[in-house]
Amino acid sequence: MTKARGSLLFSAHSLQAYVDCERRFELSYLEELEWPAVESEPLLESERHMADGRRFHEMVHRDALGLAVSAPRDEGDEDIARWWRNYETHRPGKVSGDRFSEKTLVGSIREATLVATCDLIVTAGDGGRARIFDWKTWRQRHSREWLARRMQTRVYPYLLVTAGAPLAGGKAVAPEDVEMAYWYADFPEKEEVFAYSEGQFREDEAYLTGLVQEILEREAGAFERTTNEKQCSFCAYRSFCDRGDVAGHSDDEPEEDAPNPLAGSLDDYEEIAF
Ligand code: SF4
Repeated sequence: MTKARGSLLFSAHSLQAYVDCERRFELSYLEELEWPAVESEPLLESERHMADGRRFHEMVHRDALGLAVSAPRDEGDEDIARWWRNYETHRPGKVSGDRFSEKTLVGSIREATLVATCDLIVTAGDGGRARIFDWKTWRQRHSREWLARRMQTRVYPYLLVTAGAPLAGGKAVAPEDVEMAYWYADFPEKEEVFAYSEGQFREDEAYLTGLVQEILEREAGAFERTTNEKQCSFCAYRSFCDRGDVAGHSDDEPEEDAPNPLAGSLDDYEEIAF
């Protein structure tokens, strides 16, 4: 049964799904179909990487709360051990201010609800700087241009401006005071930082409003399949779309216009886990 549009919760991940492929959005968020096919091969390797990503996020969350975290041993846990070493060495997000780990921001766009769970938000607490940090355990470091186009880079800062006042001592958060920083656990030297602005905020508001309105008004069955068939190799709905039955290999994802087979699942997890 198709979900009522009015009950939809929009997120960076669901909007990204719509932008990448309208049909994927429909199958995933309106028809709520479970994963009928393997997203990427080898399956065990993909699942292990995803589970490691979840564990790493939980460890960083515990650390942010001041709880003890035991360092993973290398043997059998090489990825997490490496990510944790990089985290301890580089300490991303180490700026002064009030810290909010795994914080969910809830706002609205038109009559719809828009949510984002941020790995870490640090605010000055007096209406000053407000920074969002996001930890990535992806195998690939994407270009700045690719990241700038992601819905996450638009939705998270937008929501911090519109719904972040309780984190900033009750004062409105000005777009100019917001930054969004991505830290890659496997490429730890330099965070990718995006400064926000009044102009970008207005552009994002118009863009997100239009996108949500388009989704709310679209007839069931009128959600088009993507014309970029590279998307389909890593999509669990291939069989519904007659777009092949062989899963893409996780080693074959260097092209930036193809989806990261692990990113979606991790983003889903981050949005619902805390
Ligand atoms: S298989 Fe391709 S067309 Fe079908 S939902 Fe997935 S990405 Fe879209």
